[in-house]
Amino acid sequence: MQEFDFYAANTLDELLRLLAQSGGRVIAGGTDVLVQAQRGVFPASVLVDASRVRELRFIGQDGETIRIGALTTYADILASPLLRETAPALVMAAATVGAPQTRARGTLGGNIANASPAGDTLPPLLTLDATVRLVKRGGERVLPLAEVLCGPRQTCLEPGEIIHSVAFRRPSQPTGAAFLKLGNRQGMAIAVVNVAVSLPLDDDGRIAGARVALGAVAPTPVRSPRAEAVLYGQSLNDDVLERAAQAVLYDIAPITDVRGSADYRRKAAVRLTARALRLAAQQIREGAQA
Ligand SMILES: Cc1cc2nc3c(=O)[nH]c(=O)nc-3n(C[C@H](O)[C@H](O)[C@H](O)COP(=O)(O)OP(=O)(O)OC[C@H]3O[C@@H](n4cnc5c(N)ncnc54)[C@H](O)[C@@H]3O)c2cc1C
Repeated sequence: MQEFDFYAANTLDELLRLLAQSGGRVIAGGTDVLVQAQRGVFPASVLVDASRVRELRFIGQDGETIRIGALTTYADILASPLLRETAPALVMAAATVGAPQTRARGTLGGNIANASPAGDTLPPLLTLDATVRLVKRGGERVLPLAEVLCGPRQTCLEPGEIIHSVAFRRPSQPTGAAFLKLGNRQGMAIAVVNVAVSLPLDDDGRIAGARVALGAVAPTPVRSPRAEAVLYGQSLNDDVLERAAQAVLYDIAPITDVRGSADYRRKAAVRLTARALRLAAQQIREGAQA
């Protein structure tokens, strides 16, 4: 086990000051940090505990904008009526993460900062066009999520900078949204492929501005502009959904690793996307009948 100098912050100001002074890195829920520390590969020797900073743990609405604090846990996401209504794919993703213990400790900010290509909250956040608020002592910036994720386990965060929160606009109605994950076992599985989709309909019942995002099939989770273009302006029918699912092949570049071959991932990405799109379409149809 790696050894660390350890500081604990009680407020956001204190957290930013301790990070600036020590050159350390944040520990939030610790579910990734401790695994990496056990392997001796965590890239810092100073940890600053953020878990008591209450200002970073919230889910709220500000006009049409939904904001989620970085310290929000998976259990918080699952318990939120606001997120069930406005971000159902994110809630579906949170439900698949680890075990109850992982969901009680693991945080949204930690999932983003860990920047795993297979991170389960990342495709749903991409389909929501989420932005990330980054803060450090004396400054802040807001970036689209895709610009925060720079490569496998790499973010664009500067030294001393933390993820404060994410934000997205409340989707227009009616919108169908879904998240699906293929793992190598039933529970506690890291994704071989994960997919999130969002299908907003315009007043004429045509698909307006669909989003399709996939994880574990490229160096970072990615949107599929080709699939989104196939869906644009179309009515909800199975042929269109199937053609959109096939189009994800143009936007992914999977590798072979211990969890699956590149070829398996390509086939799984198409099938999983088709299922997610059908699920989202079914939600809209059921909503229309209700
Ligand atoms: C048993 C087990 C099962 C798991 N299953 C899944 C799964 O199914 N799907 C999945 O996606 N993940 C899974 N994970 C990984 C992990 O739980 C998530 O990535 C979790 O969201 C990390 O959050 P955390 O608060 O524990 O982060 P930590 O471990 O505290 O931190 C992770 C990284 O993020 C940085 N960090 C944390 N918060 C911030 C912040 N606010 N600003 C800047 N940097 C920050 C840390 O410095 C560190 O580099 C699993 C982990 C375990 C141990």
